[in-house]
Amino acid sequence: MCRHLAWLGEPRTLDALVLAPEHGLLQQSHHPRRQSHGTMNADGWGVGFHVPGRAEPARWRSSRPLWSDASFASVAPTISSGSVLAAVRSATPGMPTDESAAAPFAGGRWLVSHNGRVERSVLPSYAEAESVCDAAVLAAHVLAHGVDRLADTVVEVAGLDPTARLSLLLLDGQRVLATTWGDGLSYRLDDDGVVVASEPFDDDPGWVDVPDHHHLEATRDGVVVTALDR
Ligand code: GLN
Repeated sequence: MCRHLAWLGEPRTLDALVLAPEHGLLQQSHHPRRQSHGTMNADGWGVGFHVPGRAEPARWRSSRPLWSDASFASVAPTISSGSVLAAVRSATPGMPTDESAAAPFAGGRWLVSHNGRVERSVLPSYAEAESVCDAAVLAAHVLAHGVDRLADTVVEVAGLDPTARLSLLLLDGQRVLATTWGDGLSYRLDDDGVVVASEPFDDDPGWVDVPDHHHLEATRDGVVVTALDR
């Protein structure tokens, strides 16, 4: 995935989070402002969100460009959640482009998105990977090792593939976890909640950029950013 976003806070509509922002994921699907690899994100999109009373998140994913999805645009103003992860995809050459390769990937309550690329041969194969796409295999790897080891897992994978870009975004309804490893990340915390995204979706001065090679943990109470051991 080349651009992604997580929201944790007061319920917001999928329209308000994904489609409406001036420089949000819809705009980023054809005109990202900070993308360093690829120019468009037209190879699919996805959104996952937690719903009160349901153990597992709901997801809507597609292999089509976000801008072409009139059905989603029609229902997005009617769906609200306080825990949302969405992404638009620029497929790495050689990767499948069907819906199952579009983030967010899921495991239990966790939703996972990967912005970057990794050589799949350095990772074990996982029966639970949703696709043979590198991002799906990496998501399965991260979940198999435990989300609380995310920082160590990213450093280990980078050691196995020094060319890898491993910016990840995870959400379980209580916490946002993220890494920067080759691609950027920004967050904004306010009274209503926290948004963590690969690039700011507007020009609000409250956005904070996360340096490369860092780990982020965000809850509704605050954001902790720590350097990854390299
Ligand atoms: N490698 C992943 C994919 O093909 C992510 C791509 C990206 O970040 N542009 O989906």
